Amino acid sequence: MRRLYIDFDGVVLDDIPPLYEKLGIDKGGIDNGSAEEKIQKFANFDYSEVVNDKYILNDSINCIKKLLKSKKFEISFLSHVHSLDEAIVKVKYLRRHFKDDITIIIVPGKISKTKMVHSEGAILVDDFSSNLREWREAGGIPVRFNNELESKGFKVINRLDALLDMFDEDGNEIC
Ligand SMILES: [Mg+2]
Repeated sequence: MRRLYIDFDGVVLDDIPPLYEKLGIDKGGIDNGSAEEKIQKFANFDYSEVVNDKYILNDSINCIKKLLKSKKFEISFLSHVHSLDEAIVKVKYLRRHFKDDITIIIVPGKISKTKMVHSEGAILVDDFSSNLREWREAGGIPVRFNNELESKGFKVINRLDALLDMFDEDGNEIC
């Protein structure tokens, strides 16, 4: 089985647009306040307002259940957070859908995902290019999640079950 790490925001849930809207931040992430004020906004937000089934992205929960069933991957969630409350909301949400068959790893916002897990030879599905670049530099296999299938130089998917066609029974890449 190949290790597979799945990002949360922008992959499991399409929660970034409503989050930005509620925080008064524009689509590109530009905020009128200072960087510090922006960090505080993220840290103080009540994430239960956006972490819910309403924002499930392209049938992600069912796709992950299919990935589990295939037994091709050893799956973990790998999610950046701005606050401990955000971590609690995400863990509770994921545990409602997945019992104990997936590990959940919470990453402090300022730490690279590559510093939290052994990335070499493991897949990371993420919507954020800089996470993917770091992952590739650390010897991992980056897969971009993007609704419009914009690759930005990475393999790209817009449904998580597309991974089933990219990796064989042993979790090796199908060329
Ligand atoms: Mg993301």
